Amino acid sequence: MDEGGVVTEDEIAEGLVRLGLDSTSSVLVHASLRSFGRVDGGAEAVCRALIGTCGTVMMISGTWDLTGVAAPPGLVRPHNAYFNAETWAAFDEALGSAVPFTPDLPVDRWLGRVAETMRLGFAHERSTHPLFSFLAIGTHARRLIEAQRLEWPLGPIEALAELRGHVLLLGVGHTSNTTIHLAEQQLGRSRFYRYAKVAPGSWMELPNVSGESHRFDEIEPELRPVTTELRIGDCRARLIAVEDVLACASRLIVTDPAAMLCRDQDCRCEAALQQRLAILPC
Ligand SMILES: [Zn+2]
Repeated sequence: MDEGGVVTEDEIAEGLVRLGLDSTSSVLVHASLRSFGRVDGGAEAVCRALIGTCGTVMMISGTWDLTGVAAPPGLVRPHNAYFNAETWAAFDEALGSAVPFTPDLPVDRWLGRVAETMRLGFAHERSTHPLFSFLAIGTHARRLIEAQRLEWPLGPIEALAELRGHVLLLGVGHTSNTTIHLAEQQLGRSRFYRYAKVAPGSWMELPNVSGESHRFDEIEPELRPVTTELRIGDCRARLIAVEDVLACASRLIVTDPAAMLCRDQDCRCEAALQQRLAILPC
């Protein structure tokens, strides 16, 4: 980083190499552009560094803000922690203002500028889940994207584990680490039904959408021995094998069904816990 605090594409690429990444690596990236400080070339420079260094780059490209709707009136699943439209008129109005998923929809803003820049500026594969799509670039992009199913949205992360891939956290915490949700779901926890517009006047119920992650940083001490960490500019960059995240999160949840969940009865955490308890022997 120079005296003006500006990080360059080369410095980002160099940091990724120092983390141990190369053209044989497959990574699921969760990134905060702002965490770097100022980046010469902005989000595009981050994308070029990632694509230029790693063999395969995957990011979450969800469109919930545009495609998601409330549950219809009266449709209440057990332990589902969601809200219903109060009337069918209100539901139809919300359905009217939502849009069905198409591959050219922008990535939700809360998923960060890097994913949206990746979508806009670089040839990619993108899955078509109405709420929770992934995009991927590089060697194994198609294999990862094809691993997503409507009823199992986190399938691409399972495929990434088979490739011995890694989770790369760039300036974000484990609250952004979706792989922990996969471990939860494999153990019957955090499997929610959610709803999306899929065509004019039509909506779909989608199972196994993940829930709350606000306590996921509690996994940090457990993962530290298998985490590679360094700074790129101001960005705290962490690399962890997908298999290690899954094994560690699973161990915590098997030991304590409420691991990484809060105890607020009104939080989605409570519904996730009840789902897990429901499948445990009494
Ligand atoms: Zn909570």
